[in-house]
Amino acid sequence: MNALSIRNLRKTYANGFEALKGIDLDVKQGDFFALLGANGAGKSTAIGIISSLVNASSGSVKIFGHDIKSDSALAKSCLGLVPQEINFNQFDTAKRIVLNQAGYYGIPRKLALQRMETCLKQVDLWDKRDVISRRLSGGMKRRVMIARAMVHAPKLLILDEPTAGVDIEIRRAMWQMMEELNAQGTTIILTTHYLEEAESLCRNIAIIDQGSIIEHSDMGSFLKRLHIDHFVLDLAQPLAQLPIFQGYSLKQISPTIIEVGIPKSHDLNDLFQQLSAANIHVISMKNKSNRLEQLFVDLIENKTQQKDAA
Ligand code: ADP
Repeated sequence: MNALSIRNLRKTYANGFEALKGIDLDVKQGDFFALLGANGAGKSTAIGIISSLVNASSGSVKIFGHDIKSDSALAKSCLGLVPQEINFNQFDTAKRIVLNQAGYYGIPRKLALQRMETCLKQVDLWDKRDVISRRLSGGMKRRVMIARAMVHAPKLLILDEPTAGVDIEIRRAMWQMMEELNAQGTTIILTTHYLEEAESLCRNIAIIDQGSIIEHSDMGSFLKRLHIDHFVLDLAQPLAQLPIFQGYSLKQISPTIIEVGIPKSHDLNDLFQQLSAANIHVISMKNKSNRLEQLFVDLIENKTQQKDAA
């Protein structure tokens, strides 16, 4: 069963801007899924449509098999959303915020009280339930948002950049909480800029770029492609033309600097033989670190090159 199934989803805003260009996306029940993308890629538009805050131009969205248009009440009951911005009344207590939300979902008072207690305990805020939320720390406010989103026991929880701008300690606590919720059976979709966050938490991943999905796979096979090291070589003389070396990807950064992608299976000696044969002398070499970031950049560059070539 898919927790989320999106088909050919398009969104053109009133000003004519095409923010989503026909995306397909499947998220399995129980998954911990990352939706990655740079600013302006279309993540919030997609989430807005899934949560019925934004109207799609065309295409379909199903949440646990319920179409968000023709079966909207059931679709909504399966979904919890934690938006980026703190958007509750900060003069209310955590208890009231969560209880009010239960009211919006028509949960009877007695059950609402039980759910509120469960959710606030889940996010470790039970002892702060009667504190005016304005007085809570930034991390606690985010946890109130999660408790609020969980009060109707949604099977799918979408968190839109939950750790943006929070310090490392809060981030780790949030990670742990999300892992616990997932272990208890909630399907989680996380949008994030932090690639390391996606890497350590998520089992599947999609990358959205300029309104299109450019990657949709499991994290394992995505990471396997990182088995390429990137090195930056300083050359003794400017290079008139970039040579082609079998098995390596070369990119010219400046007349005397090239970047080489070397599969881990390859021998560096082999590269140097090919460099010598091409009469290219290397003065220095440094490892260009940052694996996931690099792959992300490569994917987007490849796509742009393909577009330019078309
Ligand atoms: P992300 O969440 O990945 O940062 P968004 O979905 O917010 O991306 O935005 C995708 C693109 O759509 C951006 O170029 C943004 O400027 C544009 N956009 C978002 N909302 C509107 C709107 N209401 N009207 C016109 N363009 C919009």
